[in-house]
Amino acid sequence: MMNVNELTIKEFHSGLTEKKFSAKEATGEFLKAIDAKDGEIGAYLSIFGEEALAAASVVDEKIASGDGISEIAGVPMALKDNMLVKGMKTTAASKMLENYVASYDATVVRKLKDANAVLLGKANMDEFAMGSSTEYSAFKKTKNPYDLSRVPGGSSGGSAAAVAAGLAMAALGSDTSGSICLPASFCGIVGLRPTYGAVSRSGLIAMASSLDQIGPMAKTVEDAEILFRHFAGKDALDSTTVNHVYGAGEHLDDARGLKIGLPKEFFVSGLSREVEEGLEFAVQKFKKLGIEFREIELPHAKYALSCYYIIMPAEVSSNLARFDGVRYQGVAGMRNEAKSLSDLYLATRGTGFGPEPRRRILLGTFVLSAGYYDAYYAKAQKVRRLIKNDFDEAFKNVDAIMAPVAPAPAFRFGEKISDPMAMYLSDIFTTQTNLAGIPALAVPIKQYSLGGGELPVGFQLIGNRFEENRLFALGKLYEKN
Ligand code: GLN
Repeated sequence: MMNVNELTIKEFHSGLTEKKFSAKEATGEFLKAIDAKDGEIGAYLSIFGEEALAAASVVDEKIASGDGISEIAGVPMALKDNMLVKGMKTTAASKMLENYVASYDATVVRKLKDANAVLLGKANMDEFAMGSSTEYSAFKKTKNPYDLSRVPGGSSGGSAAAVAAGLAMAALGSDTSGSICLPASFCGIVGLRPTYGAVSRSGLIAMASSLDQIGPMAKTVEDAEILFRHFAGKDALDSTTVNHVYGAGEHLDDARGLKIGLPKEFFVSGLSREVEEGLEFAVQKFKKLGIEFREIELPHAKYALSCYYIIMPAEVSSNLARFDGVRYQGVAGMRNEAKSLSDLYLATRGTGFGPEPRRRILLGTFVLSAGYYDAYYAKAQKVRRLIKNDFDEAFKNVDAIMAPVAPAPAFRFGEKISDPMAMYLSDIFTTQTNLAGIPALAVPIKQYSLGGGELPVGFQLIGNRFEENRLFALGKLYEKN
């Protein structure tokens, strides 16, 4: 059998319908690879062995009886462990939810199941999606498949590492401020953070609700696009979703006349050589294809990080209030010792949350408190609007924006963990799009071969609201040439 672990969704679908292999065989290969390699990589927190094989058999039966199958039928996938799968553990990589079993499917999960995708298991992440390296997981370290001494990025680090190491054909991640684009870039894969409202958040464990979005992580732009179409769309269970029809997608055979903006605020000194050279390489390639580049200004971009680290903790502090030791099963025995209600809260929240969620709950409670609300939270909301206005202005003159994803490639374990500010700075180029609610697509600059010794670097293409199709078209153009 051909090496299914290396196939793209597109190639897999052809192989499957041409009966070169069965869905069950393919899933078996992925489970074998996980068995052999995940001890070292640490991408998964739980594996759905039997359920995955059963879901694959359903696809084989459909094919045998001549029924049509979806383009993602049988595709072995990983899900970030903050998305609910009925009957399965969903921990958000926190002790607080160590024993929590989901009672319903997230909307994205239901849509994937309806399309007969195969869910291999749940991927590691930073606790409650807070972090940029996956080092804040309460359970394990995930290693970057390109260099095991380095982090995979975060917070969707397990999803990215699983795809990069051939332990999943594609994955879902969530992004509140770069948690899809950053690990995608560090692991040499493609990731899309969709427009806010494009994808339902129902069944996603909330971090900061006005910023969170679920998106695809895959080997190619084409795969990310295929996947995205299967779970985007309006959902009655999430009133922030918008009824936008993405249609059949776009292809750019001739890109002449398209304009890409380069924000001058993002091309500052301090970028690593790899990022600077990589971006230059990508710009030149697009130029050869007839695309015009323009310098643009995003004057408020420099306030984005400060703005994010006020709004996000404010939302975190209220979202995480629900974890009180009464409603969800966390660390075993956590509630037994308590003599009063406040004792129970203290015992649960003191043991259940790791240091990073605790830091953010404290920060968030502070910026929302009566004396400081106007000075911090209300002001940050105004700055958020200015950041969004900058993008609106920029998109009057350009079709898309190109920028680095992070200042440098994957860093080493331990390099930033003792300094929260250093870790927060990883978000310096990603947080603007989340605050503005617009889509960003991370694309690897070159497709490095695994073990080739070089660290992957990506660039991001940023579009206006609901312009994912244009980003995909540009990304596919880059990939093909
Ligand atoms: N680095 C961001 C943070 O720590 C990542 C958040 C996210 O996108 N989930 O808040």
